[in-house]
Amino acid sequence: MSKDPTFRVLVEAPQRSARYEAYRREWDRREADMDPATHPVHVDLESVAVCDLRCGSSEDDPQGFCQIWTHEHIRTQGFDEHTYQRGYMDPVLYGRLIQQCADIGVSSIKLNYRGEPSLHPRIVSFVREAAALGFPDIMINTNGNGLARKQPDLFYKVVEAGVTDLMFSVDACEPESYHRQRVGGKWEVLLTSVRQAVRARDDGKGAPDLKIRASVVRTHLNAEAVDSGRMEEFWKGKMGVDWMSISECYFPAGTQHSWQAAHWRQMSAAEFQCPDPFRRMVVTWDGRHTMPCCQGFTMEIDGGPVVGGARAPLRSIREVWGSANFERLRAAQRNRSWDDPASGEPICQHCAVTKLPTPVPFAGKRALPVRD
Ligand code: SF4
Ligand code: SF4
Repeated sequence: MSKDPTFRVLVEAPQRSARYEAYRREWDRREADMDPATHPVHVDLESVAVCDLRCGSSEDDPQGFCQIWTHEHIRTQGFDEHTYQRGYMDPVLYGRLIQQCADIGVSSIKLNYRGEPSLHPRIVSFVREAAALGFPDIMINTNGNGLARKQPDLFYKVVEAGVTDLMFSVDACEPESYHRQRVGGKWEVLLTSVRQAVRARDDGKGAPDLKIRASVVRTHLNAEAVDSGRMEEFWKGKMGVDWMSISECYFPAGTQHSWQAAHWRQMSAAEFQCPDPFRRMVVTWDGRHTMPCCQGFTMEIDGGPVVGGARAPLRSIREVWGSANFERLRAAQRNRSWDDPASGEPICQHCAVTKLPTPVPFAGKRALPVRD
């Protein structure tokens, strides 16, 4: 299970096949040995960088707590070169990248980074392509809305196509707090999507390793429902998901944020080394940027494009995995120098993963103990 201190699970993580467990052992080995080998264990292929929700936003705080909108804000300030563009991954680019991943021995694919992957009109065939190539783990994080607003059986088809880890970001167990936190989402659409996925699983249409998860960003709004067990009772007990994960709400762009429901303590390099650059990477929807972890983006850690263009020659995922920027970030973790004010890595210093949350109990309830 994740060593990310911001992440925990309610109920035990599910058991999977021997093949799946073998890939998870390699995931853990990369952390223990701080060994990037010759390829990532996991790749996020960003199928889209658009979203139909605006989580956490309000008139007072129009950016909300989502990275995609924080980047959008930066973009509107005229810093195009310092952020991403919005868009949808070209199916030809997807086909080329997924084949490369299979060829170099990647075990796990996630079809999103920022944004809502079900907005991609080819999302079902993307999952089918990945399943045909035999990856042990094919993951999707979804808000359960997206194109399911128009296609109520979309997540039945996603399950049929062979997804193994389907994560619905739910954040609430009743409509009122859902609509306040997941701004723009429709509660009934989310429920239909989860029901469709659960029905496909129960009909025996899913992959042998399929597990359906409800995930929650714990905030001041839902902390009581999480801590009291109501959240788990609804999603696992009533809706039939297999398991649940909880992340504490952090603050974007270094700003103290009104949504959080935890005290955060900055860790030092003496007490924390991040394993992510040794095992995972991200490719943005346009193939123009790559990152050695999934917690943010600066040009200083960009491994460069995996598409051809005027600025740089075409490079493969494997070449990017060995790029100078990726290696520098690994060295900063291996040598415990990421927190050095002069020569360290600012992105790690500002990253949620290097902070330790202590959940604040709400409404007189005690916070649940952290299990990982
Ligand atoms: S659904 Fe996800 S990508 Fe969309 S606004 Fe919410 S957190 Fe961001
Ligand atoms: S920014 Fe640094 S600490 Fe955060 S996930 Fe990436 S490597 Fe880890």
